[in-house]
Amino acid sequence: MHRILPEYPSLSRSEVAEGAAKRLAKSRRKFIGQGSRYPAEEPWIIDAVGRAGAFDHASTSVIHEWLKGWRIPTRDPAILDVQTSLAVFVGVIESKGMPETSPLQGGAPFVTISSHFVEICSRIADLFPFFASLVARGPNVDQMNTARWLPAEYLDPEVSASREALELIRGHKDGLFTARTTAAAVRWAIAHEMAHAVASKAERREAYEQTAVLWSGLEEEQWFPKRHHLANFRESIERYRDEVACDLLANKYVLMSPFGVDDLVTQVSGALLALEAIKWDGWTQDGSAISQTHPSPALRFKLIWLSWLDTLQDPETWAGRDAPGPLGLQDFAHWRAYEKWISGAYRDGREGAAWDRDISETLDFLRMREIPVAADPVYVRDHNGAVQLVRPG
Ligand SMILES: [Zn+2]
Repeated sequence: MHRILPEYPSLSRSEVAEGAAKRLAKSRRKFIGQGSRYPAEEPWIIDAVGRAGAFDHASTSVIHEWLKGWRIPTRDPAILDVQTSLAVFVGVIESKGMPETSPLQGGAPFVTISSHFVEICSRIADLFPFFASLVARGPNVDQMNTARWLPAEYLDPEVSASREALELIRGHKDGLFTARTTAAAVRWAIAHEMAHAVASKAERREAYEQTAVLWSGLEEEQWFPKRHHLANFRESIERYRDEVACDLLANKYVLMSPFGVDDLVTQVSGALLALEAIKWDGWTQDGSAISQTHPSPALRFKLIWLSWLDTLQDPETWAGRDAPGPLGLQDFAHWRAYEKWISGAYRDGREGAAWDRDISETLDFLRMREIPVAADPVYVRDHNGAVQLVRPG
């Protein structure tokens, strides 16, 4: 049996007339009607999204504050600017899957964030400072690659990490960095799913057009060679484009959110962390097989990184936003190398000892653009989680 769904989600006149509160109730009911279990109270869940079941950080009113400006498009061009993310419920569930959106039926889509996603994100974030200290020690290619046993062990959900691995992680991890960056990854994932749920066709088209600037020849270079592995090439390419459009829209939503004002680089780290988690999950699920519906997460990571580089280097970005600190910019530069290190790009016969070059190239590029740089924000932990210390001023 085939169901007929609109190609792009939009609300009818009567659905609009219902009002956002009613659709939010519908959306929440549909989410709860899935019979999903709330995640167990693991520290990484509580740090990133609040206590399980309480939706402290996953109710739509908070999401709305996190990421302002969503509008569910309507089929009636006379109705504008009525609907926002307040009409879409976001929930967290115990699941081995990845974040997803339910299709918009009866005007009530909902977004689901899985415990598995939050857990992989927090583990990848735990490992990040280990990588930074590894490159700071000036290793050779062999030492760099031998050290990859740690991500292989710590990030694999099927392997219980050895004592040695856990001690190394404990010795390097920065709990506040993990909690804040994982929360930012969850926000980015919600933004991506919201783009699926509520972005209009025109918005998606416009978002995808940025790829021509960010990565010219992307389709010919990356997707055309895969055409013999895709059952329906045209359909797959359409879905790939849509996925990339939602990634770029997610960046935009996050940039426009309140979090993009006072600490943009943490949101950037979160976006990259989310993609790295999707990449790692794909690798453990099926060895990163070619997907009929999703472009490769490594490609998505690179594109998202390029999109943020473009945003960070633009002096206009910093008008009305707090300037980044030198450590935040270092993090951004390290993300590129971290992703490549985990994938084994720095081996002999591939790129070799190129991590220092990758990191300094990024920092030099940002320096040349003369963007404003200020002191890094300082965070401490209190009973609410991480809070920023503001200098009396
Ligand atoms: Zn998607």
